[in-house]
Amino acid sequence: MNILITGAAGYIGSHVLKVLLEQSSHEICVIDNLSKGNINAINELKKIRNFEFFNVSLEDDLNEIFAKHKFDAIIHFAAFIEVFESTQDPLKYYLNNTANVAKILTYCKIYGVNRFIFSSTAAVYGEPDTPEVSEESQTIPINPYGYSKLMSEQVIKDYATSNKEFRYAILRYFNVAGADPDGLIGQNYPNATHLIKVAVQTILGKREKMAIYGDDYATDDGTCVRDYIHVSDLATAHVSALNHINENQSEIFNVGYGRGFSVKEVVKMAKEVSGVDFKVDIANRRDGDPSVLISNASKIKTLTDWTPKFDDLKLIIKTALEWEKRL
Ligand code: UDP
Repeated sequence: MNILITGAAGYIGSHVLKVLLEQSSHEICVIDNLSKGNINAINELKKIRNFEFFNVSLEDDLNEIFAKHKFDAIIHFAAFIEVFESTQDPLKYYLNNTANVAKILTYCKIYGVNRFIFSSTAAVYGEPDTPEVSEESQTIPINPYGYSKLMSEQVIKDYATSNKEFRYAILRYFNVAGADPDGLIGQNYPNATHLIKVAVQTILGKREKMAIYGDDYATDDGTCVRDYIHVSDLATAHVSALNHINENQSEIFNVGYGRGFSVKEVVKMAKEVSGVDFKVDIANRRDGDPSVLISNASKIKTLTDWTPKFDDLKLIIKTALEWEKRL
C-alpha cells in the first residue's frame, strides 16, 4: 500500500511510522508542519528506511502531493490535543481538528483515497455513567477538544455514507504514555501536561514538584482513574485496524487495556521505578476531568489481530523516564 501519514513527527504518529517502517513494506509519505512535532523524530526514523517527508500544513495546497503519490490509505494524526487549551481557545480546535478533517477528506474524494485511519479520543465519552466504556456508550464530551474529535468522527461517517468505496477506522485512544523501548523516539512537547510525562519530569528535577489534581473523587483513593496504554501498543493497533478495514467494514475501536490506575498509584509507581521521592502537592480538581475512564477494549481484541505487548505500568513509566533523560 501507499500510505500518507499526517502529523508523523508528533508523539503517536512517530511511533506508528516506526512500526510501519520496521514491520511492513508499505510505501510511506509523511506530512507535518512541525508546529508540535519534532524534526529529530523524522530524521531518526529515516535511518530505519527512507520515506518522503513534506514540511507542510493541512492549510497548504496538497494537490501536487496527492496527484504524485496515489495514496491507498491515510493515517491522520495532525491535531491539537490539550483539553485545557481547548477550553480557552475552542475555535483553534474546531478549525485545526474538525475543519481540517473535512479538508483532508476532500482530497480523499478527489484522488480516490478510500482507506482512512483516524485518531480519536476517549474524551468523546465525556463523564460516563459507568467506569468502563464501550464503543456503544453515550458520547457527550465535556470539553471542546472532545467535541472537535466527535464532530470529526461524524464528518468521517457522513462521508463514508456518501461513498461506498470508502472505509474508515476511528480509534478512540485512552491515556497514551511511555516511549519507544528502543529509545529512538518519545514525547517531545515542551509544555506537556499529561500525568506520566509530568511525573518523569519531576523525577529528573525538570520540575520542582508536581500536583495531584483533586483527591476527593468517588474512587478508592479519591484520585482519578485512567487506562494508561503504552504508545508502542497503540501504534500496532493502527496497523491492525488498517489491515482489518482493508478486508472488512468500517469500525470504531476503543484502544486501551481495559484496566485502570489512580493518579496516586501512578505517582507511587513513578517513585518506585526511579527511587526518587519527589514532592507532590494535593491541588484543586482540574476542570473537565471525569473521575474514572477505562476502556472496554474487547472489540479491537476480538475483531482484529491486535496483541498488546506492554500492558505494564512499570514499563510504561520506565520507558517514559528513559526518554525524558535523553531530551
Ligand atoms: N493529573 C494530575 N497531575 C498532573 C497531570 C494530570 O493529577 O500534573 C491527573 C489529571 O487530573 C487526570 C489524570 O492525572 O485525572 C490523567 O490526566 P492526563 O492529563 O494525563 O490525561 P487526561 O485523562 O486528562 O487525558
